[in-house]
Amino acid sequence: MSLRPILVYGDPRLEAPNDPVEDFGDRLQSLVAELFESARRAPGLGLAAPQIGVNLRLAVIDLSVGREEGAGIVLANPTVVRSQGRQQLEEGCLSFPGLFTTIARPTALTVRAQDEGGRWRELAADGLLAQAVCHEIDHLDGVLLVHHLRGVKRQLFLRRVSRMRKLGVWAATP
Ligand SMILES: [Zn+2]
Repeated sequence: MSLRPILVYGDPRLEAPNDPVEDFGDRLQSLVAELFESARRAPGLGLAAPQIGVNLRLAVIDLSVGREEGAGIVLANPTVVRSQGRQQLEEGCLSFPGLFTTIARPTALTVRAQDEGGRWRELAADGLLAQAVCHEIDHLDGVLLVHHLRGVKRQLFLRRVSRMRKLGVWAATP
């Protein structure tokens, strides 16, 4: 499978609007397979379509990173229907390779989304899964880690971003 590169922060496609998934045909099936494979190889717990330059409301999560059969979750057109609690969690993102920061996330939530066949599902999530779901839905709204940070914390994070760029750790993607 040929995989598109994972875009890093600064690429406008990460912040562009994402269209709803309407066609659940073959092209979507290959896209879902590519997202799971890219996440597994990265490795990461999830990946959103805009991160590979496809501006659709589609993301995948696999907390087992490919080790467990059937552990993958497809979120097409997801919306959070309920959320509760608030916890500060350390979080990273494949579009900010090597960087982590602490942000507030709900402790539990229920999300409504379509699976790869277009069937609507409701998923109750807490802990790491709730965090991953929020993170991926953020991507579909063009919201990135840095957008959660304010003031000095944001400045320090952006300084670390430019250091990574200067070191050449972040490859430019065509
Ligand atoms: Zn991310």
